[in-house]
Amino acid sequence: MKHVVLFSGGVASAYVAHMVKNELGKEGLRDIVLLNTPTWSEDRDIYRFMCQVGRKLKLPITIWGDGRTIWQLIQDRGAIPGNFIPFCTQRLKQEMKEQYYKYLERMGEEYIEYVGFGADEPSRVQKAYARAQKHGRKIRFPIAESCISSEEIKKFITEEWKLQLPNAYKALKHNNCIPCFKGGKEYFYQVYKFYPEQFELAKQAENETGYTVFKDTKLEELEKNFMNKEEWENNQYQIADFIPCDCWL
Ligand code: SF4
Repeated sequence: MKHVVLFSGGVASAYVAHMVKNELGKEGLRDIVLLNTPTWSEDRDIYRFMCQVGRKLKLPITIWGDGRTIWQLIQDRGAIPGNFIPFCTQRLKQEMKEQYYKYLERMGEEYIEYVGFGADEPSRVQKAYARAQKHGRKIRFPIAESCISSEEIKKFITEEWKLQLPNAYKALKHNNCIPCFKGGKEYFYQVYKFYPEQFELAKQAENETGYTVFKDTKLEELEKNFMNKEEWENNQYQIADFIPCDCWL
């Protein structure tokens, strides 16, 4: 039985890998797969963190990806992904994972999937559980099962492992693509502030495809509000505007 940890390079998936390794003990080591399906669109520091975690756990990382960035995918599809047309997560994450599972099945391997959703994310857990049921697949959520908070995980990584957290956490809640096209306006404000290059690319993608990230405005327009920091921070947009991506953590 293969124990497949969906290993995104975020702190939650790193901690899940640690939990699975502890649970299985020495005999199970060979059966743990740290599966990474890269989008090549994350903060590059993710690769430093992934390598350090892999070495800390003494486990290799399996990379199975489409090879394209979200920008290349947007160009190929001529559209912007989002909550209603999430072709980025479908192609770069879900389909890649399914291809890897098909490979395991061809090898005659059984497997169980481990996802790093927390106890504070019941809807994501339910959705992932329902999807796994549909495929007749075993799935577990070790962090949600043990109710460990994200703060406790970060503390463990910095104090016990003595690893620096991935850079993305300085500005964002999740260590996914930058930007994640499922993020809300408050999220895009963070991207504008901390990742100006990627914000420019997103503006360019809107102009080239003719699609917009938000129904009611273009990023170019939103940027004018962002430029007036005081006005932006006093206006109606709240942090709750952020919609977490369904890609694993
Ligand atoms: S993190 Fe966001 S932009 Fe990247 S693949 Fe997932 S949904 Fe798409």
